[in-house]
Amino acid sequence: MVKKAKNILAESNKYLIQNYQRLPIKIVRGEGSFVWDSDGNKYLDFISGIAVNNLGHQNPQVNKAILKQINKFTHISNLFVIQEQVDYSKALVQEKKGYKAFFCNSGTEANEAAFKLARRWGVFNGEKNIILSFTGAFHGRTFGSLSATSPKKYKYGFYPLLPGFKNTEFNNIKKLENIVNKNKKIAAIIVEPIQGEAGVKFGSPTFLKAIQDICRKKNILFILDEVQVGIGRTGKIFCHNHYDLNPDIVTLAKALGGGLPCGAMIASPKVSDFLTPGSHGTTMGGNPLAMSSGLASYKQISKKSFMSKVVKSGDFFLSELVKMSGNKLVKEVRGLGLILAIEFYSSIKAKNFSDICLRLGLLVILTEKKNIRILPPLNVKLNEIKKSISIFNIALRELNE
Ligand SMILES: *Cc1c(COP(=O)(O)O)cnc(C)c1O
Repeated sequence: MVKKAKNILAESNKYLIQNYQRLPIKIVRGEGSFVWDSDGNKYLDFISGIAVNNLGHQNPQVNKAILKQINKFTHISNLFVIQEQVDYSKALVQEKKGYKAFFCNSGTEANEAAFKLARRWGVFNGEKNIILSFTGAFHGRTFGSLSATSPKKYKYGFYPLLPGFKNTEFNNIKKLENIVNKNKKIAAIIVEPIQGEAGVKFGSPTFLKAIQDICRKKNILFILDEVQVGIGRTGKIFCHNHYDLNPDIVTLAKALGGGLPCGAMIASPKVSDFLTPGSHGTTMGGNPLAMSSGLASYKQISKKSFMSKVVKSGDFFLSELVKMSGNKLVKEVRGLGLILAIEFYSSIKAKNFSDICLRLGLLVILTEKKNIRILPPLNVKLNEIKKSISIFNIALRELNE
């Protein structure tokens, strides 16, 4: 049982801009699937830094790679060849022949890069410049990505956003066909195969395939935002491997840096050369430290044996969650690999559920009011999953009382 810390927010409220609603918890240490707070409470961490720590905390190989790089150099700038970037890109595009990577520092930057590349490409392809995205989509907080993001709550007070962005209904092929037929200037369509921030909402396989078909037919770029679901989260290195898709551009971040800030856009040979020298850049992007950490993490995750363990853990987790779907408070459970969700009928019940989990030492994220998003580290142990299930069941019993 977790003790309640008092006034833990006071200093942070005094010195930090209050753009986050922080929990009154100060984490002082992490190891594997667990973290400890300043009061000595231990938590099972099924948030994983929002899908960043895919190997849990203090992964020995990642730590080793970071220390090794620190003892060489930590930053040099993109004025030079950075071998660590070459090595990481080589690994990332191993099964995507001819694709190339641009490295940056975050998910929103990866999407900005994708939009800029799409517009450059559009100049030479019918002067197209419109980016089309979907309802529920979250693509990041900078102005370009925010313009492609759909929910109003992220945008309030920040208008005017960028021109040249349009939005249509997620999982609705008819409406997609309509808007594409009406609008000849669409340069790119961007979609999350699974909408993470929206509460783990799945794009249907037919919908995702339809986007790709429309893109091919109309000469539109197909961008997949895999910032949250890439790097093994779903049991395959890229989420789109589940649907046999072949996007022109994939954006990655979150788990890409093995815990350090890192993003990437990988682009097919058809488009990658449109970003010519000087057309785009970043001072810190592809920083050697983030590259070394990321590659050390990626090497472990991308192993076939590791991926099949993720599939097994995910299948087991989901089969346990399915047993809860009979509960009268639970609307639906969903999951693919190790991104899972419990959707409640009531937002109050969902909030209470996450509060009880926290009190019992389990960290999960309340997303879009009614969804409990579950993001364990990919190397989570079976008994840790079982532990979370027993906490979920206690929480449900309490809520039903
Ligand atoms: C988190 C996220 C982003 C934004 O990433 P940041 O690193 O926070 O900029 C973009 N797209 C998706 C799908 C995300 O989950």
